[in-house]
Parts: sequence; structure tokens; C-alpha cells
Amino acid sequence: MHVDLLINNVCVRDEAPLVDIAIKGGRIVALEPGIDASADEIIDAQGRAAIPGLIEAHLHLDKALLHRRLPARFGTLDEAIRVTGILKSKQEREDVLDRSRQVLDMAVKHGTVAVRAHPDVDLIQGLIGVETLLALKDEYNSLLDLQIVAFPQEGILKSKGTYELMIDALRMGADVVGGCPYNELNWDDTKRHIDIVFELAQRFDAPVDMHADFADDTADQRFAAISYIAQKTIETGYQGRVSLGHVTSLGALDADTLAPVIEQIRLAGISIVTLPATDLYLGGRKDQQNQRRGLTPVKALHSAGVNVAYSSNNVRNAFTPFGKADMLLIGNLLAHVAQFGVPEHQQAILDMGTHNAARAIGLSHDYGIAVGKQADLVILDTFKVADALLDIPPRAWVIKRGRITVVTQHHCEIHRHSCCCAQ
Ligand SMILES: [Zn+2]
Repeated sequence: MHVDLLINNVCVRDEAPLVDIAIKGGRIVALEPGIDASADEIIDAQGRAAIPGLIEAHLHLDKALLHRRLPARFGTLDEAIRVTGILKSKQEREDVLDRSRQVLDMAVKHGTVAVRAHPDVDLIQGLIGVETLLALKDEYNSLLDLQIVAFPQEGILKSKGTYELMIDALRMGADVVGGCPYNELNWDDTKRHIDIVFELAQRFDAPVDMHADFADDTADQRFAAISYIAQKTIETGYQGRVSLGHVTSLGALDADTLAPVIEQIRLAGISIVTLPATDLYLGGRKDQQNQRRGLTPVKALHSAGVNVAYSSNNVRNAFTPFGKADMLLIGNLLAHVAQFGVPEHQQAILDMGTHNAARAIGLSHDYGIAVGKQADLVILDTFKVADALLDIPPRAWVIKRGRITVVTQHHCEIHRHSCCCAQ
């Protein structure tokens, strides 16, 4: 057998023997120890661990790296929307492209093979976020899959003309209908916003991905929309095609109130994408003591069988001052804040950044390190899969559709069992 790429001696499961991976035509064609094949290119992983390519299921590129342009003074969500709104009104194509590329380059370097991006679609910046992403989708085609969400950050009813812009965005090639139902003036408008999102999704046969229930608690009904969204999902037959970011107000419900809501989410097949860097930073701001973690109830959702993924959301702006589009770094943060520390929970976090994220953005049919799947994987500069979140190691090789896209020349050859490499 002759293949395009042969990876020798790689660890895909910690308790199993090392295997070889043969890749041809962008797909994994064999996965077993001692594959007898010639290849155009050979990687000797020398026992290093491989994980499926990481996936950013929720990322804002058009608003990234604005942290030094107009620094926030207080750090609240309202201020972040206001400050970013001022900057959005001055967006220029080359600058948006430049900042977006910087973040995508960070993501690729960190082993990300797919990104679902949420460019704002509103009267402030118009369609510049969608237009630039359409260009970047082609430009980065060999490095990662890029999905575009038409995201009405400023509301739909509250911001007249946004509805028409969303239709334009979807006609131009946006893949997903976004929503921001809490950014309306009252609960009736929030419901209407959700209805409009589902109407557009059905009309364009597109998935739905909304920012939802992003508050410390459910006191204001606009931030308690999850049940209504679950009901709409089932009514429209959209089970498995709806993802929601944040959903932090769920974290404020007591166990008895929470359980039936989680059951609705599960029945509706909704994926929850937790965004810990932003949620931790913006949540619980008014608490004077026992300050909340401000996260969706990750453990309860996960235990109930809901598909939970996580993502970076923002990189260095008023919503999230930190970040470098590194899914392992955010996974480590999430593991701490969600108290996912025992071995099976650490594996669950890795799944949330890989398999669960693939499911959240509709890629799971062709994803994973298995024969027949698209060859999107990361070989880490560490020797156990379970050390991915502990070491946050350099991504020694990143492979996208069977092609090596990143080689990090800092391999820890000597200290095989006690890696000393810093990234
Ligand atoms: Zn977001």
C-alpha cells in the first residue's frame, strides 16, 4: 500500500499499544500497529499522543484584538457592548481582515481545524464581518473549515433594518442563522426574535446558533428563553441543529427547577456551548460576596446527557481581555471552574473541545481518529492523551485533511516521561 502520509508510533488511547495511522486522499485509511506501507511523507511520533483536531465552535473574529483601541474602564457587559459598538462603527475591511487573520493563525498553530465564527450583522458595521469572513473562508480553506454565523448582536426588532441585513448575509453565503434574543426591549420581542431566527433558518435550511440567557440569573425573562427555544426547536423539527452560547442564567436555578429545563434541552437535542473566559470575566459583577462563577451548569448538563462544548468566544477585547485562541488553554480553565478534575471528567473536557464541538457545529459525521474519517488531527508534544490539559503542550504536528499544516520545532526528545518543554 502507498499512502500520502504515514504517522508511526502514535498514542491515541493511553491504555492501548501505540499505533500507526495511514492517510490517503485526506482520509484515515488504516489505524493499527505496524502498518506496512510506503508513503510520500512519514512522521515518527515516537510515542507522542494524538487527539482529533480541536474545534472553536464559537469565535468572534471581527471584534478580536480591539483591546488597546478603546480600553474598557469598568469591565461590564453593558460597557463591552457600548465600547465595542463605538469601534464597530469605524470598522475598515483591511483592519478587520488583519485582526481576523491574526486570530485564525493563532487557532491553526494551536491545533484548531474548524471554526464557527459569529460576525456581527447590524446597522453599525453592516456586513463587513460577513464579507471578510467569506474571503477568509477561501484563504484558509487548506488550514481549517470556517463556518459563518449571521449574528444580530444589536437585536433584530430593536434595530430596524437588521432583519434585511441578515437575509443579505444568508444570501451571500453565511452558513448559520445567529441570534441575540436577550438584546430586545421586552419578553414579547425576545420571543419574536427567536421566531424570526427559526423562520430564517427554515427558509435557508440553515442551522441555528444563538447567544442566549447570558445573565447571572433568570429575574428578567429575556434571559430565561431556553424553554421557549427548546419548544421552538421541537416544533420546527430542528433537533440536533441548534446550538446556544453562554446560557449562564441556568446556573442560578436550584436543582429541582433546573432538572426539567435540562430535560427539555436534552429532548430538543440542543448543544450548549459554554464560553468560560467571557462568562467568568463578565459574570457575577454585582455580587459583593460569594461572587458567582457565572457559568452554565456544565456538570448537570453533562451528567444529563446534553451535548456540551466550549470555545474561546472573544480574544482580547472588552468582552474578554485575554485569550490566544488556544482550545487547550480554555479547556484547562473550564476544567478548573466547572470542577472537572477526576480522570473521566478531564477526558470529558477534551471531548467538549473536540467531539462535542464537532457535533455542536454539525461536523460529527466525518470527525474523529478512526478509519474512514477525515484526517484532522493534532500530535501533541506529550506522551499521554490525558496530559493534554495538564501540559498544554506544543502542537508538534497539526494535520488538516491529511496535510501537515503546522510543525512546531520544539520536540521534547530527551525528557520523555517528564516533559520540561515550555510552549
Ligand atoms: Zn459570542
